[in-house]
Amino acid sequence: MLICSLLPLSFAVGHATAQPYPSRPITMIVPYAAGGPTDTVARVVADAMGRDLGQRMIVENVAGAGGTIGSLRAAKSEPNGYTLILNHIGMATAPTLYPGSVDPLTSFEYIGLVADVPMTIVARRSFQPNTLKELIDYTAKQGSKITYAHAGAGTASHICGVLFASETRAQPVTVPYKGTGPAMIDLLGEQVDFMCDQTTNTTNQIKSGEIKAYAVTTAQRIPALADIPSVKEAGLGNLELSIWHGIYAPKGTPVELTRKLTSALQVALKDEAVLDRFNQLSAIVVSNEEASAAGLKAKLEAEIARWKKVLASESPK
Ligand code: ASP
Repeated sequence: MLICSLLPLSFAVGHATAQPYPSRPITMIVPYAAGGPTDTVARVVADAMGRDLGQRMIVENVAGAGGTIGSLRAAKSEPNGYTLILNHIGMATAPTLYPGSVDPLTSFEYIGLVADVPMTIVARRSFQPNTLKELIDYTAKQGSKITYAHAGAGTASHICGVLFASETRAQPVTVPYKGTGPAMIDLLGEQVDFMCDQTTNTTNQIKSGEIKAYAVTTAQRIPALADIPSVKEAGLGNLELSIWHGIYAPKGTPVELTRKLTSALQVALKDEAVLDRFNQLSAIVVSNEEASAAGLKAKLEAEIARWKKVLASESPK
């Protein structure tokens, strides 16, 4: 008799507390320092996704070990739709460089791809070389007397440096940061010599003349930086590199929630403010098919295989 009278009550309590998703702010982890290019992409998208979902999406920078610390944090978070991670190509280089750490293929659910961003080879204002050809000659001669900034092994700036070194005879001292936001501050202050970084972090500084730019890592020039040669025309075609970005949720996040997040991502990528901002920074938004779980999964699998071959002999530095 007692049990019968309690059952309806517990059902009633269960229904009263079931909240529609999302009922509180969502955290989007960025595994690099604030103020850098991945952070910029994440903040633009998080803002627009939050508007669509009716809840704020808060970016949290969990930087270190080339993005691995942030990936670990995201992978271990409650799979309840309130913690996501936005990472770039580094998600695909990590299995080769940090074996035994997070396996992105088994640790996450996929929300979707976001945008592709070209890179630029840049240097401090008074660094001697003025063209890519001069940079190649100079770096070959100077050996370890010059410094190259990057965001940690496996990051976009690191793999761009690896490709540059394998195409030239450059052997600079590499200076790892927790992201290229802080690396850019040191480049502006002329504390380091050169780096390769996404246009989402270099466009304004190139345009204002605060740093030098030698090339964009594309086959063709890009409209926002029309004076800068492409790596292809400057004779380093093997350095073509486009940095893709994806959003992931911890493994086990219910599919109703990941679908809702994918739909918010697709809405965000049609938002005028997002398109304008990305356009200024030369970020190219992906199609609806790519901004999906299947789109991200396919990209990640292909890129893990690609970077395994390229980075097999690299160890984190
Ligand atoms: N641009 C960095 C990289 O080299 C990461 C960042 O700070 O966003 O991957």
